[in-house]
Amino acid sequence: MPHLSWPNAIIHCDADAFYVGCEISRHPELRGKPVVVTGKLGGIVLAKSYDLKARGVKTGQPIWEIKKQHSDIIVLNTDFEFYNDLSAKMFAILRQWSPDVEVYSVDEAFIDIKGFRRLYKKDYGQIAYAIKEQIKQQLGITVSVGVSTSKTLAKMAAEVNKPDGVTVISAKQIQEWLPKFHVSDVPGFGRNTVPLLEKFGIHTCADFVNLTQDTVKSILHRPGVDLWRELQGEQVHSVENSFAPNKIITRTSSFEPITTNQKFLWAHTIRQLERAIEALHYDHQLTREISLYLRDKAFNRYDWKYELSVPTKSFSILLDALKKIWREHFPTGALIRSSGVTLSRLSFNAGLQLTLFEDPGLIIRKDELEKSKHHIKEKFGNLAIRSASSLRLKQRLGPNKKNPLKTKAFNVEW
Ligand SMILES: [Mg+2]
Repeated sequence: MPHLSWPNAIIHCDADAFYVGCEISRHPELRGKPVVVTGKLGGIVLAKSYDLKARGVKTGQPIWEIKKQHSDIIVLNTDFEFYNDLSAKMFAILRQWSPDVEVYSVDEAFIDIKGFRRLYKKDYGQIAYAIKEQIKQQLGITVSVGVSTSKTLAKMAAEVNKPDGVTVISAKQIQEWLPKFHVSDVPGFGRNTVPLLEKFGIHTCADFVNLTQDTVKSILHRPGVDLWRELQGEQVHSVENSFAPNKIITRTSSFEPITTNQKFLWAHTIRQLERAIEALHYDHQLTREISLYLRDKAFNRYDWKYELSVPTKSFSILLDALKKIWREHFPTGALIRSSGVTLSRLSFNAGLQLTLFEDPGLIIRKDELEKSKHHIKEKFGNLAIRSASSLRLKQRLGPNKKNPLKTKAFNVEW
């Protein structure tokens, strides 16, 4: 049993059905109605009201399919500019309560409120309630709030009482809460981890924390141990103040000796793109503009930009843009000493993005693919999964004598 109720105090604030909430804030007559928000093409559900959720409507489901079952639905198109604006206002309110606010996504944040009970003359649950009410009053949207001693527990607590709820789990209450959470409720346990844990007979979070640290380490490695500690109320991950998101992301390489080898340079460019996309994922951002630069022997710098039709984090869309730049502009025969890829015009990831010419089903599959790639990298390291064109770089990035791909013929594939 922990000695103190509040060794740390962390709030997780999560807007309820955010896009729908934003629409209701400017069309109050829609409150309580079955509303779905869809992309510009009107193909699939990007967000739905709580009553539709209760009726079994899922995000990603085609609108025509839902209309067959629920003829009363009201379909609205997304307006990301408006959602981003409300999101910024929500974060501004949170920053009135604490200087340490971590923007987790367009509608979610962690707030470190340790030590503020005296200042506000409220206990931590009352502070959470006051924040929730202020957002509702000033912005017309509802949020759900969790308060606990670690980020993981705070985020799980925020899910308990949705919509418009507050859930408090102090250190002394953790033991009574853990049996109520299934391991699939833990953010950070992916689709593959849950069945793996169940195979070992671990179903609830209480089952999980009862394992020894060594057992957890042998099944789930270091990230699993971190979660095991966080679930016991220990603050492993601190609230990272992210007031200003990165304005640009750049990844570069320099070459010694300098080179004219286009295939080698292209492989590096792809690796730079992969690394830049990892940073996008990490910051929950999307990019609207990609650029490539090369510096030649005489230190001349060549810079080319490509503007994308919608914000994205898709590897294939960004790769296509780079290929266009490369085909049009690469100075054949130039001796290159360094190169770099920059992603700019960043915005918070506000969900799936559709382009005019892509099939929504394909976009969802691509998005799933990107997520799986990201999980594999988190688990096995950045080099675990990479595009074929950059495999040749393995020799430089980390020798692997047994890797048969090392000697494979290397082609630039357009
Ligand atoms: Mg939310």
